[in-house]
Amino acid sequence: MLFGRNKKNPIKIADKKVTEWKTSVCGYCSTGCSIEVGVNADGVPVSSRGAAGADVNRGKLCIKGIFEHELFKSAGRGTEPLMRNNRHQDYQTVGWDTALDRMGDEIKRIQAQHGRDAFAIVSTGQIMTEEFYTLGKLSRGVIGTNNYDGNTTLCMASAVSGYKRSFGSDGPPGCYDDFAHTDCLLAFGSNLPEQHPVIYWRLKEEMEKRKFPLIVVDPRVTMFAQFADMHLPITPGTDVVLLNALAHVILDEGLQDEDYLFKNTTRPNDFEKVLEDYDPVTASKICGIDEDTIRNVARLYANADAAMSIWTMGINQSTHGSDGVVGINNLNLITGNVGMPGGGGLSITGQCNAMGTREWSSCSGLPGYRILENPEHRKEIADFWGIEEDFFPQKRGLTQTDIFPAIETGQIKGLWLIATNPMTSMPNTARIRKTLENLDFLVVQDAYKDVETTQYAHMYLPAALWSEKEGCLTNTERRVNYISKLTDPPGIAKPDHEIFSELATRFENGKKIKFPDNTSDIFDEMRELSKGRLLDISGMSHEKVKNAYGLQWPMREDADKGDQRLYSDGKFQHTDGKAKLINLPFFDNNEQPDEEFPFWLNTGRVVEHFHTRTRTGKIGNLNKFSPTPYMEMNPDVAQEMGITQQSYVRLVSRRGDAVILAQLTSRVPRNMVFIPFHFHDCVNRLTLGLLDPHSRQPAFKQSGVRIEPIDQKTAARLNAESRDF
Ligand code: SF4
Repeated sequence: MLFGRNKKNPIKIADKKVTEWKTSVCGYCSTGCSIEVGVNADGVPVSSRGAAGADVNRGKLCIKGIFEHELFKSAGRGTEPLMRNNRHQDYQTVGWDTALDRMGDEIKRIQAQHGRDAFAIVSTGQIMTEEFYTLGKLSRGVIGTNNYDGNTTLCMASAVSGYKRSFGSDGPPGCYDDFAHTDCLLAFGSNLPEQHPVIYWRLKEEMEKRKFPLIVVDPRVTMFAQFADMHLPITPGTDVVLLNALAHVILDEGLQDEDYLFKNTTRPNDFEKVLEDYDPVTASKICGIDEDTIRNVARLYANADAAMSIWTMGINQSTHGSDGVVGINNLNLITGNVGMPGGGGLSITGQCNAMGTREWSSCSGLPGYRILENPEHRKEIADFWGIEEDFFPQKRGLTQTDIFPAIETGQIKGLWLIATNPMTSMPNTARIRKTLENLDFLVVQDAYKDVETTQYAHMYLPAALWSEKEGCLTNTERRVNYISKLTDPPGIAKPDHEIFSELATRFENGKKIKFPDNTSDIFDEMRELSKGRLLDISGMSHEKVKNAYGLQWPMREDADKGDQRLYSDGKFQHTDGKAKLINLPFFDNNEQPDEEFPFWLNTGRVVEHFHTRTRTGKIGNLNKFSPTPYMEMNPDVAQEMGITQQSYVRLVSRRGDAVILAQLTSRVPRNMVFIPFHFHDCVNRLTLGLLDPHSRQPAFKQSGVRIEPIDQKTAARLNAESRDF
């Protein structure tokens, strides 16, 4: 029996009774979408939508942004500080003064007994830029530890390192508007439609208006690869070989921009000679891309009027991550694709304010891209803050990935984790668990008290979340966006910058350095310190940033808006003003699949979740669409091994094992499996995470594993138990 349209149940969209829409910016990824949060008559946030007037997202949001208002009532929030003497006791609720007094005493005790650097701090890419600047003041100028870093070492350190080596400074040169001008786009290790859907939508819109080649380099047939004109299924960890081969073809065929190279770059005398080893035939045997494809891509890129490269973790999370970024920079320099509309490089950042920590947190140096190794920079900041210059170390201390081994060896005794969750995010979970158990004193500061790492802490400090406070975030394209306060934090939780300022008063230097009360005054300090520097924000104010839906830096005093691109004038940040071409000899030092562990283990993300699910794991619809970890496995290999769709398997590496659901798909080749990294006690039980020598970023995506079919009932029970952790 047929029913007419009018007989069907109409889809009803619940009336949320929004009385006002308030503007903020999304607090998950670094795309920087402006968001409007609808509040009801009681002032309660009940809905979210994209801000139509914002250039970044033009009314769009991905699924995480659409449900972002639900964060304010999500489970697991911390409302009061918690304390205990050791991790076998239950936590006791305490007031802020008691918690911060004890924290100050413990830090001073550890530093007096073991030296200033025996207390380490690891922060995040999630708090506001003004908070990062305040944390830098506290860490560098008050507590005075040199073992201070951000969890951005797990995601963007290789991009930072590569930019510094090639251009003399961090700072992504390109912007989203480049999609409207480019004639060729080369994407490395970036699954844009699923990981940065709104940036992909910007790109797709431009490709629909004006056809230009899209080339995706990725070992998996990702959604982005499926949409591409050419997919280059590269052998994991060999991007540098492909990049050298592209440079080889361009120079061999005389396709380089010699004029640009002569005016704007320095190059080693043996640059061409080193590239001789990477002819397409030799390179194809290492990187798995056939020689004709290498030649075609090199010609397409070099002959395009404007060509651009984007990349994410496929390049960065490798033992050759920094070299991969330098290789991309080399490619853009030899083709003259820097600082021009549609031509250049753009690292697509992960966390919403990974850029803010790079710019202002002082974790790799001093604020405003200053470095500890430069005596003028040390003096400038010491004078500005009103402390002795020799309080600063003269070179950078340990990165996050070196701090954990230093805890194992007893060099570090105390640790403060701020909005980061190493029990889920770091490679080799078993080793991290033992490391945390070794600490004399561990503090976890987070919006959520149920974050896995809190189980190993002596103290938990409850922080405000996203739009429970106000301040700025910098997105992928150097756009400073403004987060508005929409509601109060729960209980007596505080904005992170207030916690930092209050802890500072427990120390001697905390009485000398001024800690402003509000983020607008903190921003004014940063503006002052930025004058004349690459990341000049002296032309901005909170008001201007908010009204414009974000402004890009550099934006100099009296300017109406910021520069869209860096290095358009051909002036770089090395002392001679030139960019460097750098030789990239390739040594294969990754763990490789072998007879015992015959599969590559590749890791990545799904659109529904963000990082360790501390937030998205609490949102009903996001969990409904992505409830459980899974492993992508090639169906032909699965058939040969007797593994069926949605059966459980045991995955084993040299580090540990994990029980996981098999999803059979041709997205992965025969010798690879892929697992999303968001879930606790799952993929990072297996990863090795060898470090890049320049950036110290772990190679999450290149480990060897074997697959073992197992009894399904036991597997389901083990899997459920580990999820309940
Ligand atoms: Fe938020 Fe990123 Fe999604 Fe935009 S794309 S809504 S910034 S998570």
